[in-house]
Amino acid sequence: MLNANLIVPALLMAVAAVLAPMSAYAAKSVELKPAEWCERLIPRMPTVTQSACEQAGFLPTGRHSLQGFPLLAKDVKANGKGKKKRPLRVLLMGGIHGDELTSAAIVYRWLDGMSGPIAQSIRWRIMPVVNPDGLLAKKASRMNANGVDLNRNFPTPDWEAEAPAYWQTRTRSDPRRFPGKAPLSEPESRWVEHEMQVFKPDVIISVHAPYGVLDFDGPAQPPRKFGRLLLNRVGIYPGSLGNYSGVHKNVPVITIELPNAQKMPPKAEVRRIWVDMLNWINDKVEPQEDPVKEAKSSARSAKAGLGSPAR
Ligand SMILES: [Zn+2]
Repeated sequence: MLNANLIVPALLMAVAAVLAPMSAYAAKSVELKPAEWCERLIPRMPTVTQSACEQAGFLPTGRHSLQGFPLLAKDVKANGKGKKKRPLRVLLMGGIHGDELTSAAIVYRWLDGMSGPIAQSIRWRIMPVVNPDGLLAKKASRMNANGVDLNRNFPTPDWEAEAPAYWQTRTRSDPRRFPGKAPLSEPESRWVEHEMQVFKPDVIISVHAPYGVLDFDGPAQPPRKFGRLLLNRVGIYPGSLGNYSGVHKNVPVITIELPNAQKMPPKAEVRRIWVDMLNWINDKVEPQEDPVKEAKSSARSAKAGLGSPAR
């Protein structure tokens, strides 16, 4: 399943790593430039132009997919004019399933809507293509280059007991739902988990396709609808992001399922989903306690025998 387009940079990086122990610098010197990674991505991102891709301002994070493609992200600072006690932190990600082309493309398109007051009051970390190897595979693939469904690879409690058993019995070992051999076995899922740890989002938005609904896990009042997409809880799976973050980490996750994996919604609908999402975030999401306070208050409730309920 090697993508010929990615073999050369991967080899170059391997050579560079052998030649120079300072591999961080060596890797940088062979790192793809925006024009180059955009040239690869554009054929797989409906309605996104090369120039829009280059101007989007995503940068390599220093992490790479299995086949050596840079994992890209962008931070947007809050303008400090929001009314919350501190700016909300929103982690927005697309393309965790590589064959859901619109889920990566719409993240690029939403950048057009970053100039409004709500968007500007938010601190963003945006990761448009979580699974570039899947997106860029000869035939776009849900899974990463190891054949792992990244959205089943997060370390939910009892993953070792539950995820393989669920895969074998409930999906009848469907290769499209393979959770991997261990939680966080893949560089792409490790990257997402790392960003969750360091960025500490108040809410995570993860875009998928093609079920045409919204799903929601975690605290906060769920959205009723974004654009034409209505809330319809799809279910909860061992190792999924919604389960890991929403249920176990108490950080709400909205899963946006666009109605088509290849064809973008009309322009007005792209915009409506974005506006409804911003309004919901602004109305229903509150900044989480800061970690120090949280640790103190959970120590207090543990003392009083008030541990949080098992979910
Ligand atoms: Zn998906």
